[in-house]
Amino acid sequence: MVGVPEGDTVWLAAKRMHAALAGSTLRRGEFRVPQLAAVDLAGVGVREVVPRGKHLLIRLADERTVRSHFRMDGAWHIYRPGTRWHGGPGYDVRAVLATDAWECVGYRLHDLALVPTAEEHTLVGHLGPDVLGPDWDLDEALRRLRAHPDDQIGVALLDQRNLAGIGNIYKVESLFLCGVHPWARVADVDDLAGLVTRARKLMLANREHPEQSTTGSLRRGEDHWVAGRRGRPCRRCGTTILLGEQGPSTEERVTWWCPRCQAARSPIDPAARTGEPDHPRPLTTYR
Ligand SMILES: [Zn+2]
Repeated sequence: MVGVPEGDTVWLAAKRMHAALAGSTLRRGEFRVPQLAAVDLAGVGVREVVPRGKHLLIRLADERTVRSHFRMDGAWHIYRPGTRWHGGPGYDVRAVLATDAWECVGYRLHDLALVPTAEEHTLVGHLGPDVLGPDWDLDEALRRLRAHPDDQIGVALLDQRNLAGIGNIYKVESLFLCGVHPWARVADVDDLAGLVTRARKLMLANREHPEQSTTGSLRRGEDHWVAGRRGRPCRRCGTTILLGEQGPSTEERVTWWCPRCQAARSPIDPAARTGEPDHPRPLTTYR
């Protein structure tokens, strides 16, 4: 299992939540997290549900906004009343928003917050252009990326302040498809616009369904080029796919790459930045 929620997952969740809740009045609205335990949204209308990068915003008719984030494992499930909930054990439920027609159950949600809608910027104002947003701005995303030319491209693509919505899978897959080494400096990526556009196209192609495929195949084991394929032959050249960790120590993400298809023109030595010897540290806990 390599898939974690990325911008396309949040986009689809928001679309479905909007269809279920927008224009309706909540008959039940409760949270099972300490900071919102006293909140009761029963009787409050829902105006709209929108994605912003990897954040999901539920805007209420009383000019307040609920923000949730999936991080690695969160999900909103939508049920008809009377249907058995099956998103996980009861202690994983963080929020319940129900109308007469639908029950939206939030499992393992993170960063739950309730703020005046006018103050949403305090939650999402730091985000760069939204890859799947109606106001997507490629030039602004490129400007933000290029403002830190010495950053590793594999880290920069995940920094939501540069552009919002890309997660680990679309990062590694777009780097592969564009032949860019994950440790390359941003300044050394020949076609940065092409790389960002590739990642966006992958997400656009996947946003209408929950599966994440970058190869065009939804068959298990054939749905990615390098992600989740450590030790297996590259689909293009047969070279063994490598896996390493990349990023600040508190935000390490695993990175898969083909050392031939993504050969650095001027070899990058990860040890120069991380202090690690020779190569990124191999992992055993991920496939
Ligand atoms: Zn290859």
